[in-house]
Amino acid sequence: MDFDLIVIGAGLVGASFALALQTAGLRIAVVDSSVPSMSVERDDWDSRIYAISPGSEEFLQQCGAWQMLDTARLSAVEDMQVIGDDETSVLNFGAYAAGMRELAIIAESRELQSALWQALIKAHHVTVIAPAACHELVLEKSAVRLSLADGRILRAQLIVGADGADSWVRTQVGIKVDTRPYAQTAVVANFATEQAHRGVATQWFQRTGVLALLPLPGARVSMVWSTATAHAEELLALDPASLALRVGAATHGVLGDLRVITPAAAFPLRMQRVQRLILPRLALIGDAAHNVHPLAGQGVNLGFRDARELARVLTARGAQTDCGDFALLRRYERARKEDIATMQLTTDALQRLFNSDNAPLAKLRNFGLRLVNRQPALKNLLIRQAVG
Ligand SMILES: Cc1cc2nc3c(=O)[nH]c(=O)nc-3n(C[C@H](O)[C@H](O)[C@H](O)COP(=O)(O)OP(=O)(O)OC[C@H]3O[C@@H](n4cnc5c(N)ncnc54)[C@H](O)[C@@H]3O)c2cc1C
Repeated sequence: MDFDLIVIGAGLVGASFALALQTAGLRIAVVDSSVPSMSVERDDWDSRIYAISPGSEEFLQQCGAWQMLDTARLSAVEDMQVIGDDETSVLNFGAYAAGMRELAIIAESRELQSALWQALIKAHHVTVIAPAACHELVLEKSAVRLSLADGRILRAQLIVGADGADSWVRTQVGIKVDTRPYAQTAVVANFATEQAHRGVATQWFQRTGVLALLPLPGARVSMVWSTATAHAEELLALDPASLALRVGAATHGVLGDLRVITPAAAFPLRMQRVQRLILPRLALIGDAAHNVHPLAGQGVNLGFRDARELARVLTARGAQTDCGDFALLRRYERARKEDIATMQLTTDALQRLFNSDNAPLAKLRNFGLRLVNRQPALKNLLIRQAVG
């Protein structure tokens, strides 16, 4: 089977990347080991949610996926509050003050995945091969050869690894990865609230970790509590009523009584830095290329920015240019380096700063929140960085 480009992984990043190449004149194969379950009418809420930045929303519009989402299941973040562990230090970000309609849109993972998948299977330039198990990958001088476990062989000029944090593609070609587990787990769950959230996303930086309540449509919120793994296990063992009480106490009852509407689930957290984003005839995007702490809600947004940039470089290549050309891929790597390094550095530094029991450091971090809060220009700069 001959293609121009093979994408391994049809998660949010891999699927959007393939869709973004609709005018690139490339024949694309998208291979995934599984098929996502399709979204059907339902009244439950996915506990896996994303804060989609305005830049990512625009990209998903261009991919033809955003317009397929049910707007009744989306929720706008109009204000964001970050509260320090002395409970008096607060940092506020407002969409209105920044001249924006909203800071982000909260969307459920399964709804996004389903919209992207439906757009993918309809796209004329894409052949979806799923479920399929990858067996062997060989990078030759003028082509890439991928063997599947069922004996099929795919050839292309370029292969893109979008197969997540444990990337098979990255392992096959021996790109080194520096993995640092945070000894933390993110506990996620959704709650019905007694009081309205008014479009405010609130994040508490506490000694027990970072706890975020993000607005869902109606009187509902989604929680992401990144905390020490032993504490996470304790939270996961609680019955729903006790978990609601525990989260209510940790958030000082700001939304009144809470009731669990989606049971708790857990995600272990780690930081990953890869040595290279490219090799001749190969590029990595999304979590295959970087993995960051979710405290800034930026992981998938960072991945969408990889997808957008690589698609831009490939679409702008001359008609005669081999899409696996190393000089083209270098352009992608250079363009993405700074954004990725900044996000890794910022999320890692914040995680360390707020994960320390050191008293002077505690004073300093709370002072820092108050200081930034008094600097509108700096706050606007931070917002611009986050919405890209
Ligand atoms: C608790 C938590 C909360 C988060 N919240 C946010 C948030 O609010 N905002 C945000 O921007 N980010 C957030 N993130 C980060 C976000 O989840 C990830 O960055 C994002 O899911 C990465 O997408 P991806 O498509 O790169 O990888 P994945 O979602 O991991 O997709 C990989 C795809 O590759 C396929 N695959 C894997 N191996 C193979 C193989 N060998 N062969 C074929 N296919 C394969 C898989 O089936 C899958 O479809 C959060 C993360 C966590 C843990």
